[in-house]
Amino acid sequence: MTHATYARRQAARSWWRDGLEGSIYLLCAIGIAFAIADGALLATSALDGIYAAGRLTGIVAAILVLVQMTLISRAPFVERAFGHDRVAAVHTRLGKPVVILMLVHAGIITVVSAQYDGHSVLSQSAAFWELGWFMIAAQAALGIFLVIAATSLVAVRRRWRYERWHAVHLLVYVGVAAAVPHQFLEGSTFRDAGAAWWFWLVLYVLALGSFLLWRIVVPAIRTSAHGLRVASVEPLADGSTSIVLAGRGLDRLRARPGQFMLWRFLDRERWTEAHPYSLSRAPEADTLRLTVKPSGDHSRGLAALRPGTRVVAEGPLGVFTEDSAHAPGAVLVAAGIGITPMRALLEGDDAPAALIYRVRSRSEAPLLDEVAALAAERGVALHVVEGPRASTGWGTAAGETLASLVTDVADRDVYVCGPPAWTARVRDDARAAGVPRHAIHEERFGW
Ligand SMILES: Cc1cc2nc3c(=O)[nH]c(=O)nc-3n(C[C@H](O)[C@H](O)[C@H](O)COP(=O)(O)OP(=O)(O)OC[C@H]3O[C@@H](n4cnc5c(N)ncnc54)[C@H](O)[C@@H]3O)c2cc1C
Repeated sequence: MTHATYARRQAARSWWRDGLEGSIYLLCAIGIAFAIADGALLATSALDGIYAAGRLTGIVAAILVLVQMTLISRAPFVERAFGHDRVAAVHTRLGKPVVILMLVHAGIITVVSAQYDGHSVLSQSAAFWELGWFMIAAQAALGIFLVIAATSLVAVRRRWRYERWHAVHLLVYVGVAAAVPHQFLEGSTFRDAGAAWWFWLVLYVLALGSFLLWRIVVPAIRTSAHGLRVASVEPLADGSTSIVLAGRGLDRLRARPGQFMLWRFLDRERWTEAHPYSLSRAPEADTLRLTVKPSGDHSRGLAALRPGTRVVAEGPLGVFTEDSAHAPGAVLVAAGIGITPMRALLEGDDAPAALIYRVRSRSEAPLLDEVAALAAERGVALHVVEGPRASTGWGTAAGETLASLVTDVADRDVYVCGPPAWTARVRDDARAAGVPRHAIHEERFGW
């Protein structure tokens, strides 16, 4: 591929990304405009003004929840623009403002309504129930969102197992379902089937639709269409395990080297959990492979998988592919099990210029033989940086730098995958060598 093709691809992606980002602001603006058109700002007293602010915060909160749902729906149009880790990070970052906006909305509407009607705040909360079941559902929704926010606090999340936290987090969909009716049945902007009503209906259908389509319908169809099963489980000398999955028409998944999928193995021990693992070689029409290092319950247990086990795979996900590069001839930098997406990238359309593989010792380096053979075949300069961890830099006590190993690294895209602290050191070194921020691509093995 030529430099011009790379440049065109990046320009198209950045337009798409800017368009999607812009549409979030546009949706908030339209939602607020409909509320204003409905008289939200016709305040005749300070109390009316506060009540109007309460309505507007509810509207922005509702739009942001729908944006969050679309972001995490795994819809390809979102995934290809931003990449899964960035999408997951924005989804998480939006969580706090959404809950604050909901609290402000509920607080203002309750307190001001209590003032209007001469009730106490507590009796006003109960008085809302007379409006209909949907107000009880809305209050329950607020409670659910508060529980989710509390369990997402860093201090709580660190103590909880990922699976338990994730199970509680799924309640968000019950919360959304419980909150929607009060908007349509009580919110004054929504009551008449006018333009605002249609705007909200389309918004809900799109957000819920993408979620159902990409998280449930598409994986279910693909599971039955591809018939993915474990074909073989191969323990490797360094302690990791390669798992080959066989299926029909896997090229239709359009997975790219460097991508990962969320894998759910349908045996008794594992069917409840889906975990992300990268493809550890370029996908083929009838097989996919992943290579897993034991780090916790799930990854450790995969060595005991039985051939024939059925597998549900969501994805392919992620933008750690050569499609994200700005020019041919990237530099790949991996540590330990971070080699998996790099191994696949070595089989990409354009060969990378160099692969730097940081290992404690060659005997503990997953896939080293395969990587060495492929690098030799494709003319990729392989640097195995071997030795104990140094106190500074990403290499050994010898103080290797990217620029000392690849003299023209400043003109290349750098792909990094390894433990987070190590990845940060590689990023700092790449920046010091003159690699622009946008040409550094990271895959983090954890969100
Ligand atoms: C994009 C991506 C690609 C990855 N590719 C590989 C690979 O090719 N080979 C490999 O060995 N490892 C890979 N990992 C890491 C692997 O997913 C985790 O090591 C594994 O899920 C840990 O689960 P566990 O039960 O073994 O360990 P635990 O001790 O239960 O989990 C350790 C940490 O892993 C994360 N984690 C656990 N479960 C999940 C989940 N379902 N989804 C997201 N994060 C979770 C959490 O941050 C948790 O704190 C990848 C991770 C990501 C995000």
